[in-house]
Amino acid sequence: MKRTVIRLFLAAAAAALLLAAQSKIAGQSAPSAQHKAQPPRSVRLYIFDCGVLHNADMGRFNLKKEDVKTTDMSMGCFLVAHPKGNLIWDTGAIPDDSWTPTGRMTTQHVTLPDGQARDADVDKTLRGQLAEIGYSPSDINYLALSHYHYDHTANANEFASATWLVRQIERDAMFGGKVSGSLQPATFSALQKSKTIIIKEDDYDVFGDGSVIIKSAPGHTQGHQVLYVKLAKTGGVVLSGDLYHYPAEKTLDRVPTFEFSQEQTRASRKAVEAFLRKTGAQLWIQHDFEGNAKLKKSPQFYE
Ligand SMILES: [Zn+2]
Repeated sequence: MKRTVIRLFLAAAAAALLLAAQSKIAGQSAPSAQHKAQPPRSVRLYIFDCGVLHNADMGRFNLKKEDVKTTDMSMGCFLVAHPKGNLIWDTGAIPDDSWTPTGRMTTQHVTLPDGQARDADVDKTLRGQLAEIGYSPSDINYLALSHYHYDHTANANEFASATWLVRQIERDAMFGGKVSGSLQPATFSALQKSKTIIIKEDDYDVFGDGSVIIKSAPGHTQGHQVLYVKLAKTGGVVLSGDLYHYPAEKTLDRVPTFEFSQEQTRASRKAVEAFLRKTGAQLWIQHDFEGNAKLKKSPQFYE
């Protein structure tokens, strides 16, 4: 008798905990049914504010402080909403679960595996920005990262239920067991078990209609890639990944010191520049603080 009562009590306590956890999740992230996003009629590109990264050492980019207007870097995360599904491109430097938004900008400290440290300012979570336009991470069909560096992978695990689009050489580097300075493996560990499409071609057409194409652009990392999005009103846009960080790398022809292969980076830049000339697409340098500041942010979008 006594045992049954205890068991009942434990079951009730567990149920209450579960309910509390679920309502906490609902309150923080999941959009309510009536606000759930519907597939758009034409392709949309949303830009989320994933923070500002402070850079103390311009030497890593083969630049001097005088070469740039600001040493700060923007961190964009992107949602491509397509009539047939949606794709997240890059996920920031600060995991949503590692801090609590207060409505004000807060500085988060990142310590990399080799002991290097970085500071990043954030005021909004990626999850919160997605919820604002009616998406929860489980609504996302595809995840693609420009590359595996920590400032692009922070919230990758959130999208482990999506199909991951990655090149074999990049995936091998991520799960090869050898950790370099700019990786935070804990932020993408869940992708190891994700449904995965290994991209074999240079250009991978995500939805099969030529509107969203992941383009090979190796050099910064082994399998670095950029994203071409063809929008009905805006025209073509290429999201740079880290093909460049500062516009000065382009104008002064500088390649960072920490590339996987500087030679490959130069070749990839040439190929992307030729593509831009051919298509008339714009290049959005994701870390370009000034360029990014001029772009519309979610809940606004480009179409
Ligand atoms: Zn980066």
